[in-house]
Amino acid sequence: MDVKEENKTITIGGENVSPGESKLLKITIDRLPTGTLIDIPVYVFNSKKPGPTLLVQAGLHGDEINGIEIVRRMLAEKRFNVVKGAVIAVPILNIFGFIHYSRDVPDGKDVNRSFPGTKTGSMASRIAYHYVAEVMHQIDFGIDLHTGGGQRHNFPQIRYTAEDAQSAELAEIFNAPISFSSKLIKGSFRNATYRSNKPTIVFEAGESMRFDEYSILEGIQGVLNVMKHMEMILSVEPAKVERNKTIHLTNRKWLRAPTAGMFIPKITNGSEIRKGQVLGIVTDTFAKRTKQIKAPFNGFICCVNHQAVVNQGEALFHVGMASL
Ligand SMILES: [Zn+2]
Repeated sequence: MDVKEENKTITIGGENVSPGESKLLKITIDRLPTGTLIDIPVYVFNSKKPGPTLLVQAGLHGDEINGIEIVRRMLAEKRFNVVKGAVIAVPILNIFGFIHYSRDVPDGKDVNRSFPGTKTGSMASRIAYHYVAEVMHQIDFGIDLHTGGGQRHNFPQIRYTAEDAQSAELAEIFNAPISFSSKLIKGSFRNATYRSNKPTIVFEAGESMRFDEYSILEGIQGVLNVMKHMEMILSVEPAKVERNKTIHLTNRKWLRAPTAGMFIPKITNGSEIRKGQVLGIVTDTFAKRTKQIKAPFNGFICCVNHQAVVNQGEALFHVGMASL
């Protein structure tokens, strides 16, 4: 590579970030009914040395705060001061959802089902449209940080696109406790990046509106692992939490409530399970009727629903077999 070659300039919201510069930029989206302007803060760290541009984003679902805390902490600890390439860090993509403690935007639409979006569509579709136009086309890789929806607690896990070898490789480098390929959902950010050939992985950890320190630490470590692999940073200190190697899951399955009642899990998230083992019970409130939820196979649990009162069919456990 020519040593004189400079990194590319990144332009967001009409403002340039030249090689060697770091800036906080804003994508203007809309106003609140009170007239307050709502914009998405976008941090750009552009190094002088040419290299890939990595997007680290969170808060695509406004109530999924573990991802938001991962980006905030990495900003506070100056983790994005890269020596090669560039990082675009977005702590909260769905500002509207965040201020309403909600996954969605105020009209109930999901931004992560609205990509690539349209200029004149619903609010979610407009956010997606502006985000694609301002940010997505400038990145080479993406890490999309999420948290379990509702009261479902995801054991820290990385999801990649099976059809995209680079996304699978990124997942390996991230090195989360659990990893699996998951189908591309129509309108999702990962689907949009896949179509634009910008390999992306999704980190899911913890439960909405609740901080989970272990999830946050695994997320920070994973992002640093990717940055180190791309030589954007020189070193990564050893993981703060000791654990086993990544467990790769296949044959994933949701175990659902067989009946309505109180749900009492009998196992901790991330545990190994044996076929036939009782994972939890759903009981009525009168100690008359109790149903057991049993493990369908030998494997691991990667999500536990922390909702105490459930209806029939509610997703209670996400389980999978470990692939060798
Ligand atoms: Zn999410």
